[in-house]
Amino acid sequence: MLQKASMRRWGSRVLSTIPWLRRFRMARHMGAKFEPCYRAIREREGFTTEQIRTYQNEHFLRIFRHAYDHVPAYRDLYAEAGIRKDAICSIDDIDELPCIDKEEVKANPESFLAENVEQYRPRINKTSGSTGMPLNIWVDEDLATMANALLWRHMNWAGLTFRSRSAYVERPLGYMEGQINETDLYAADRARKNLTINTALIGPETLPKICSTLADFKAEVIHGHPNMLLLLSEYLRNNPHYRIRPKCITLRSEKVTSDERRVIEEAFGCETFELFSQWEFICFAADCAHHSLHHFFDLGIVDVMKDAKRVNPGEIGELVCTGLHNYSMPLIRYKTGDLGTIKEGKCPCGLEMPVIEIHGSRGKDLIVTRTGYFEVMSGLPVKMQQVKPFRQIQFVQKDMDRLEVKIVRIEDLSQEEIERMKRVVSEYFLDQLEVSIAFVEDIPRTEAMKYKYVESSVPWRF
Ligand SMILES: [Zn+2]
Repeated sequence: MLQKASMRRWGSRVLSTIPWLRRFRMARHMGAKFEPCYRAIREREGFTTEQIRTYQNEHFLRIFRHAYDHVPAYRDLYAEAGIRKDAICSIDDIDELPCIDKEEVKANPESFLAENVEQYRPRINKTSGSTGMPLNIWVDEDLATMANALLWRHMNWAGLTFRSRSAYVERPLGYMEGQINETDLYAADRARKNLTINTALIGPETLPKICSTLADFKAEVIHGHPNMLLLLSEYLRNNPHYRIRPKCITLRSEKVTSDERRVIEEAFGCETFELFSQWEFICFAADCAHHSLHHFFDLGIVDVMKDAKRVNPGEIGELVCTGLHNYSMPLIRYKTGDLGTIKEGKCPCGLEMPVIEIHGSRGKDLIVTRTGYFEVMSGLPVKMQQVKPFRQIQFVQKDMDRLEVKIVRIEDLSQEEIERMKRVVSEYFLDQLEVSIAFVEDIPRTEAMKYKYVESSVPWRF
């Protein structure tokens, strides 16, 4: 039996060295356009600063002209600012263009859609972003492929191949539909070498099973959100008999401090690699082997701005991004609300891709109930938004049985809508919390200028 299995593995390894077969397998999993896109992305990593500029210049002019000709919001914005199409001749002229922010896009998303949007076969990314403000972004089919390839650039830098065994510590919401049921603690897809741990069911009772499943699966990489991995790390520190030893861990979505990273690295005995990304698909950045966060210049342009002026390298400001590839819904000079710095000097890894640093955390604690620990993923505000749109949201937990949801509304809600919204929240936390909703005028920013989107003062317990 064992012999058969090892023969199969050997055969599969030999077959995977045949280029056309490798391409066929990749196409089957990722779509036919993935492989050429991925190859181009890897080639661009070797670009010099001059080549990077040429690439960005060409794509910037193309998307700007498209927005000018086909997108109503930009047509109005540029007419109002007195900007002629031929006045923008290169990337150096980008400062001439006015910035837009999430509020403007949210208020009238259709006006940011190209009149010829269908030809780009878009799909809709529903996001709540880092502040919990729901926003729908139409994304070109080709850009979705590119984003997937960029994700693989990050994983490749972390040392993975397409054949690596992966464990995902995530909640099955929306984009994971069909991969795992809400009621399953985990799902293993042995053919694709994937294990998914359902974080909705992580709690003091289930942690032993989760840790033994992860130890048995022997993943080469564990992907997850920092808060959940921190929780697992704390548990492993108290229960060192579980040996979970991946080659690396990839951290997504939230900024981690270096102390938090160290806790995770010590618990799992490996390095962590960070990916910074957003659902708007305009700014991705990932750790190289030297743990510098390289900006993926081929996805978008990043300017760091403060008081409507570009700041010098090394200074902190807001990331203002211009996506280079989304023709369905171009985002040009888009204020992301994230704070960062473009670093000076070159990274010892040799890549000339710019290095950025992201400041402040996205401000998300875990919500603690009597049975488990919950991340508030963007799917929750998106679901609440379906009851009634709102401007801003914050989840505040002061004790283990109650949760207060603060909402800055756009319009008044009926009692029935309030009850429906409470139901959505309560179900998300598996009916473990008494939910109340408070309408507020504003949700203030923290000292680091970020919205504390999920705030819990309830300690973890194992
Ligand atoms: Zn580097």
